[in-house]
Amino acid sequence: MTCEGIYDLIIVGGGPGGLTAGIYAMRAALKAVLVEMGAPGGQVNLSDSVENWPGEEHIGGAELSMKMYSHAQSYGLEIRSDEVVAIEPGLDLHTVRLAGGACLQGHAVILATGGNPRQLEIPGEKENYGKGVSYCAVCDGFFFRNKTVVVVGGGDSAIEESLYLAKLARQVYIVHRRDQLRAGALLQQRARAECKIEFVWNSVVTGILAGADGVRAVELKNVKTGEPRELATDGLFIFIGFVPNNRLTPAGIRRNADGYVVTDDKCGTAIPGIYVIGDLREKYARQIVVAAADGCTAALAAAHYVEARKAAQECELPESMKTGWAH
Ligand code: NAP
Repeated sequence: MTCEGIYDLIIVGGGPGGLTAGIYAMRAALKAVLVEMGAPGGQVNLSDSVENWPGEEHIGGAELSMKMYSHAQSYGLEIRSDEVVAIEPGLDLHTVRLAGGACLQGHAVILATGGNPRQLEIPGEKENYGKGVSYCAVCDGFFFRNKTVVVVGGGDSAIEESLYLAKLARQVYIVHRRDQLRAGALLQQRARAECKIEFVWNSVVTGILAGADGVRAVELKNVKTGEPRELATDGLFIFIGFVPNNRLTPAGIRRNADGYVVTDDKCGTAIPGIYVIGDLREKYARQIVVAAADGCTAALAAAHYVEARKAAQECELPESMKTGWAH
């Protein structure tokens, strides 16, 4: 089957990393396309307030996403709303297959597919998703006005989302498996000062009790004493990390034990012309600003790679055919 078009660069994923890659690719005069199946911005859309994007003291996640999207579009980046189902590396061109059978080909591909919230994998979690179990306070917090909620986790997400929930709910319990939070100091300080938030330390949620109206309690276990306990709640919000979306990562690209892709300092992989950025890439800080920086690095590296390839191929052509590249 013939593919629809040949691009210098195909970007898979439209979060901060992918959109930044798109901006830099267009500024480097690459023929680029970005494919995203959901709303632009990815996980950032789920953030109520972003407070560490330089230049913006407070900005809504959805608003920041739209700004990045409009910025990329202002350079004429082609953005396709479609699902990528496979990436097939090639010696000459890489092929990106879309749901429905269409395909695109590119000299370079940047994978920016991020990841999804990790699940607790406890009884009742799947069954009660949308009926009291949630992975997004901004999306579902509204349903818990003046109610009691339990949040699981001790990282930035759990604390940030708990602070958001405390604006709506009557009571927020943060259940954490240790007695120390992983979250940044400023967030910790705010959570400790919020009178609606109560911490349940050294504890894990082992089960969900639900009735016809949804969640009514969670079963807890103290990991130090083994003591079980029931805690009445109207909702359970789970923020225990992230699972990289590595489904499309071609074989031959190295991943660490947690499934994150290991790259070089240019976000390059073992396959020439294939780059991995953002939350899918193994890194120290999983932040919006770092995903954006990855997008810049990979797009500049891809531009260099594509130019070098074209120059090399131009040299190989007979003199009569050296007419420049037509796309
Ligand atoms: P995270 O930093 O990996 O924290 C996950 C938390 O969940 C940890 O406290 C962990 O406990 C706990 N946990 C993991 N598995 C568990 C399980 N099976 N049962 C119970 N608890 C479990 O994840 P995150 O908070 O989603 O953050 C992900 C990345 O995004 C981080 O790099 C974070 O800094 C970043 N982030 C930044 C911002 C911001 O800057 N505004 C906001 C959100 C996220 P332990 O601590 O015991 O391991």
